[in-house]
Amino acid sequence: MQLHLLREELVRLHQELPRHNLVVWTGGNVSVRDPESGLVAIKPSGVRYEDLTAESMVVLDLDGRVVDGELNPSSDTASHLLIYRRRPEVNGVVHTHSRYATAFAAVGRPIPVYLTAHADEFGGPIPCAGFALIGGEEIGEQVVATIGDSPAVLLKNHGVFTVGPSAEAAVKTAVMVEDIAATVWLALQLGTPEELPEDVVEQLHRRYTTVYGQ
Ligand code: 13P
Ligand code: ZN
Repeated sequence: MQLHLLREELVRLHQELPRHNLVVWTGGNVSVRDPESGLVAIKPSGVRYEDLTAESMVVLDLDGRVVDGELNPSSDTASHLLIYRRRPEVNGVVHTHSRYATAFAAVGRPIPVYLTAHADEFGGPIPCAGFALIGGEEIGEQVVATIGDSPAVLLKNHGVFTVGPSAEAAVKTAVMVEDIAATVWLALQLGTPEELPEDVVEQLHRRYTTVYGQ
């Protein structure tokens, strides 16, 4: 894909985060890998979502060399790049501090499968990785060590990371994680939700990923 199209897609996907109430101010970030060139585009660090433009996106190779862009890349760049190097099938990574999911992360608690929507999308619990400092590859190491086959992982005391075959898929997963976390939080106020049995989770996930939709 041409670089300017990749940058434009990335700006559009960043706009989905405030639209779905997943971020405030400059928290969170999205990156996209171009499967053809292997280059990764990511948001600049600390720029407000409404000020993001195609030109402000930073394009890097997998070793972190800036190929194009004037601004400092996101603080989580090294971690996004580590995820791309370790997971060749991943072409999109999203990070948010979305409220309900991050509340689970604050207490280091994975989200069990209580809901059919959770089984459909994730096919298992949303795991919680250990704490890691911001700025280097440590967050990426935690993500790849814990995420397994899940498209999402909580990061202790920090937030949410999602991955997908495209950046759009990873954004959708970030929306779903927060929706499920909010419903589970509400359920926990009402009583003790029952976990769906593993075989039911598996059947729901199989139907959703093979038969569901058009
Ligand atoms: P950036 O603005 O540098 O992407 O940082 C946001 C964030 O959430 C860091 O974890
Ligand atoms: Zn963060």
